[in-house]
Amino acid sequence: MSDDEREFRIETDAIHAGQEPDEETGALMTPIYANSTYQQDAPGEHRGYEYSRTGNPTRADMEQNVAALEGGEYGRAFASGMGGINTVLNLLESGDHVVAGDDIYGGTHRIFTQVYEQYDLAFDFVDTTDLDAVRDAMGESTELLWVETPTNPLLNVNDISALADVAHEYGALCAVDNTFATPYLQRPLELGADVVSHSLTKYLGGHSDVVGGALVTDDEALDADIGFYQNSVGATPSPFDCFLVLRGTKTLPVRMDRHCENARALATWLQDHDAVDRVYYPGLESHPQHDLAAEQMDDFGGMLSFELDGSLEEASTVVSETEVFTLAESLGGVESLIEQPAAMTHAAIPREERLAAGLSDGLIRVSVGVEHIDDMKADLNAAFDQAL
Ligand SMILES: *Cc1c(COP(=O)(O)O)cnc(C)c1O
Repeated sequence: MSDDEREFRIETDAIHAGQEPDEETGALMTPIYANSTYQQDAPGEHRGYEYSRTGNPTRADMEQNVAALEGGEYGRAFASGMGGINTVLNLLESGDHVVAGDDIYGGTHRIFTQVYEQYDLAFDFVDTTDLDAVRDAMGESTELLWVETPTNPLLNVNDISALADVAHEYGALCAVDNTFATPYLQRPLELGADVVSHSLTKYLGGHSDVVGGALVTDDEALDADIGFYQNSVGATPSPFDCFLVLRGTKTLPVRMDRHCENARALATWLQDHDAVDRVYYPGLESHPQHDLAAEQMDDFGGMLSFELDGSLEEASTVVSETEVFTLAESLGGVESLIEQPAAMTHAAIPREERLAAGLSDGLIRVSVGVEHIDDMKADLNAAFDQAL
């Protein structure tokens, strides 16, 4: 569904899609349907819900809302982003081959290699900015191309439309993890992807108070398969968690506008700062895929990374000294977070491998929140003074 085909624009869908006022009471917000089971009118005759692992009205409204944001027909929610990713892997059979980016989310790399390799799935990790490298890795048994963009923590940008074409040449599904960009900035289904994956924990929830996941597709048969595994595996979210996500998605567009504005201002300021060696942000003209990002995304997002002109220890001091930026993993909430990938989110990757991937010891990643930009700059300046 392109923007002109949508009935409403995304700002309107964020607030209204899946959210009809309750017919009986007029209550505006979908209630938290805290029940496991539903009365049946006759044996096997129910009113759309029979058991809450299979379906729950609060979850159904959230699934519809997230699907509408992506411009997709079908949405399915999970207890975490990993629950959704697991379900995509459930679609495969032993002997199948998967091609994925070489700088994907660590948890995705872990479930691929440490969980599914033992079930005889094979994985190849390649630089997905290099289409020839992707083609070289694809083969007869390749059933899935897994794409993330922008990537974490180096903010590389991958060409979704070109990668979807390569996947389809080989009869493989193209799945895009759209957690970093969000549907407000980038809609992979419009660009040819078959399924979009989200960690609702990040921008869609937006307040660092819930863990959740979602898969969205336009393909009815694919959605039916996803629904089968959602119900069979049972990694479904609670009605309360679905309520929190619905509360978050309403403000996604306004939050993202501020995240993007602050991140752009901070990236530009860091780029000119004496204490900083290099900034990774797709919105900077110095970014290697800046043109692609400008074409594929409506804005450049709220995540950025930078390298200090210093060591691992000095980077550790900076991330420990900030006050406006909280030292924590995760991202996408209204508050600014700071972390050191080499010691935190990406510590599991052997140092040599990390350095080869361009991820230095001194790299610092920030999730730029919606606080005042001047407070952020002053906070970083004070931390740089402490460290350097
Ligand atoms: C956080 C994250 C995930 C995993 O989601 P959880 O909700 O933590 O299970 C997957 N992909 C990306 C890009 C993420 O940032």
